[in-house]
Order: sequence, then structure tokens, then C-alpha cells
Amino acid sequence: MSSEEKKYVSVALDGPSGAGKSSIARSVAQELGFLYVDTGAIYRTVAYCVRQKGVDPKDAQAVAALLPEMVITMGYDGAGLQRMYLNGEDVTKEIRLPEISMCASQVSEIPAVRDFLLDMQRDMAKKHNVIMDGRDIATVVLPDADVKIYLTASAEERAKRRHRELREQGTPVDYGVILVEIEERDYNDTHRATAPLKRAADAVRLDTSELNFEQSRQEVLRLVREQLSL
Ligand code: C5P
Repeated sequence: MSSEEKKYVSVALDGPSGAGKSSIARSVAQELGFLYVDTGAIYRTVAYCVRQKGVDPKDAQAVAALLPEMVITMGYDGAGLQRMYLNGEDVTKEIRLPEISMCASQVSEIPAVRDFLLDMQRDMAKKHNVIMDGRDIATVVLPDADVKIYLTASAEERAKRRHRELREQGTPVDYGVILVEIEERDYNDTHRATAPLKRAADAVRLDTSELNFEQSRQEVLRLVREQLSL
């Protein structure tokens, strides 16, 4: 995109599962009046559809064959929360189930799935000031993002956070199971051939292992304000 065409600013927030990207991005977006785009939710919607159809998420050909009949749309509710729709059905809650997490990680390895979702993500940044979180936002989706942050934390700390979050949501899962899943998803996300999770050379690395939510949020806000001269 040439600089004349670029009307909106974008913040790319990448990192592994459970690093706190979504809660931080949502809060920072609200404070700055930006749109928060959770790209993981889009991959989760594909995963939900694949499971619903009983297709093996590792079968790239079978998953690719489902894409033409998948109409994925997103919207924002009155509270500014992103809602996901699959063929018109609101699947916002269903895509958060733990079994969808691993399936999302598997379908996201498939190049046809990544291509299918690319324009949808880029379109959001063409029409709004965005803070977009994901795995490949700074490296692939928005390589010209104005601010690039790579948010991370140790696998143990991320598992602890996810464990607490699921318990609070009333769907408790054993800590050990969560840790193994996080490590497995980290492995999948960093080793896949297409758009693997990695820090962009020009992204700032922020490790939140020793920071609480408010400290992490403030640090992201500081980086964004500094780089956008807000
Ligand atoms: O962020 P979240 O955990 O909801 O993402 C679910 C899965 O979707 C991740 O494990 C990752 O494999 C995949 N994903 C991706 N690229 C993105 C966002 C998510 O590959 N931009």
C-alpha cells in the first residue's frame, strides 16, 4: 500500500497462545478508539466449521474443499465485542471451547485456509484504525503496520493464566492438560511451513511473564503512543 492510499493506522500484536494479546488489545483499542480485530477468532470459526462437518483438520484437501461453502463474517456488538458468524449463525461462544483451540491450530497450518482469510483481515485495516492480534500480523498480514509488538510469556505462566480464565468461565480444565496443549500449539504455530509464528525483525519484544495485566497494558499503550506520536 502506498503512503498516499494509507488513511488509517495499524498496530500489529503477535505472539503465542495465552500471552494476553486479546485482553490487552481489546483494552488498548478501547482507550485509543481503535477497532480491535481478533484474528484467532477467524481461524477458530474455520475450525468450528471443520469439526461440525466431521472433517479431519489435518486433511488439507478435505478442509480446502469446505472453504467455498464457508461464509465467515464478523461484527461488533453494542459493547464493542467482536462477534463471529458462520453462514449467518453466531458462533462467538462456541469457538472458545477448548477442543476448538487445537483444531484451529491444525487448520491454520493449511496454506489454502490462510489465503482464504488474508483479504478479510487486510480489509479491516484498510477501513479502520486497528489493533490486530494474531501470529503473522506483522510478518504477513500487515507488514507495513505502524506499530509492531511481539507479546510473549513463559509457557507455564500462559498455562496458569488460561487455567484461571477457563475456571472463571465455568469450564475448568486440568492445568497439566492446558500446559501440554499450549506447548503443542506453540510447536505447531512456530514450525508450520506457511506464515509461522515468529517475531518480525522490526517488532518490539515484550515479555509479560513478570508483569500483571495492568503493567502489560500500560507498556503496550506506551509503545503505541510513542510510535504513533499520540
Ligand atoms: O489466538 P487464538 O489462540 O484464538 O488462535 C487460535 C489458533 O489460530 C492459534 O493456535 C493459531 O494456530 C491460529 N492463528 C494463526 N494466525 C493468526 C491467528 C491465529 O495461525 N493470525
